Amino acid sequence: MVPMKKETAQTSLTEEMCLIPGLKVRTGEPLAPYTSIKIGGPADYFLEVEDRAALTRTLELLHSHGIGICLLGKGSNVLVSDLGVRGAVLRLGREFQQVLWTEKGGEVLVLVGAAYPVSRLVREAARRGHSGLEFAEGIPGSVGGALVMNAGAYGTEIEKIVDRVEGMTSRGQVIELQRGEMVFSYRSSNLPPGTIVTRVQLRLVKDKAEEVALRVRELVAKRKRSQPSGYPNSGSMFRNPPGDYAGRLIEAAGLKGSRIGRAEISQRHANFILNLGGAKAGEVRRLMEMARTEVRKRFGIELEPEIRFLGEWPESKQSGVPRNE
Ligand SMILES: Cc1cc2nc3c(=O)[nH]c(=O)nc-3n(C[C@H](O)[C@H](O)[C@H](O)COP(=O)(O)OP(=O)(O)OC[C@H]3O[C@@H](n4cnc5c(N)ncnc54)[C@H](O)[C@@H]3O)c2cc1C
Repeated sequence: MVPMKKETAQTSLTEEMCLIPGLKVRTGEPLAPYTSIKIGGPADYFLEVEDRAALTRTLELLHSHGIGICLLGKGSNVLVSDLGVRGAVLRLGREFQQVLWTEKGGEVLVLVGAAYPVSRLVREAARRGHSGLEFAEGIPGSVGGALVMNAGAYGTEIEKIVDRVEGMTSRGQVIELQRGEMVFSYRSSNLPPGTIVTRVQLRLVKDKAEEVALRVRELVAKRKRSQPSGYPNSGSMFRNPPGDYAGRLIEAAGLKGSRIGRAEISQRHANFILNLGGAKAGEVRRLMEMARTEVRKRFGIELEPEIRFLGEWPESKQSGVPRNE
């Protein structure tokens, strides 16, 4: 048998995907616009999946063709390589943006799709007088991304309010995890590898709407005082080491305002790297390596990236910053 040529196989896969209802297929789509830092090369396949049925069929098909996948939420905690992503990048659409609120006594259950924006959920909870999500005000991601990253702020994390998670394996099989079956850690939910989060149930409590709204407003003001605004970024680049802050260490190493190309370590908060316009992922990584090296040299502390690296990183073989995807 003559092996199928690569281009022929790609064309046949694209054609098969185009037949799946609820799936929008793009090839060679640049990913920069889909990330908060506005950096990143093209995805071989960029797939916007509208509903669960489409997700199942897409995953089965990609698996049968041996195509790797990665999920993109709001792209607010990722750095996509300048070379882009080989394989398929999936974004969840319409059906994954639904939310259902149920009140029982003083308790509130929110069943929310993974693509729902966290900021909208926080505001909606405040308007209804439901407490528990205030800490997440200003976290610019999706519910799915927040769950995967165990997003947190001001001493609390999403794990505290998670009740149940629905998802799919990379082969399209439905999975469900109860709170007790999950092991969260700092900025990670340690889900089984390849899990796609489709819906999350959160447990909140009833409170007075004006008090919830006041707490949210206070945290908005606090965030405005401490975080840089104006230039695209990916939030905190490094995890805080135990008992310290990555931003404090990078600042103490004298690196605030350091630039490589069009990427800059923020003057305001040294754990943020800003895209001053046209920055490359390689420049951001080199700044991260510089920060890691200086902090290690001066304080003997190893900074670990908080952001997830997506795509092909040929330079990662010799770089100090480990790749995580
Ligand atoms: C200005 C700014 C402030 C920030 N402040 C905070 C903060 O206070 N606290 C905090 O914790 N974070 C913060 N972040 C980081 C980021 O917003 C959070 O980590 C957020 O939860 C990421 O969600 P996302 O949808 O953008 O995920 P993405 O960045 O798109 O993805 C993050 C990871 O999750 C995976 N993923 C996304 N969706 C799914 C899914 N449905 N199923 C499976 N995997 C998925 C991706 O593959 C990737 O590995 C900040 C970022 C910015 C830019």
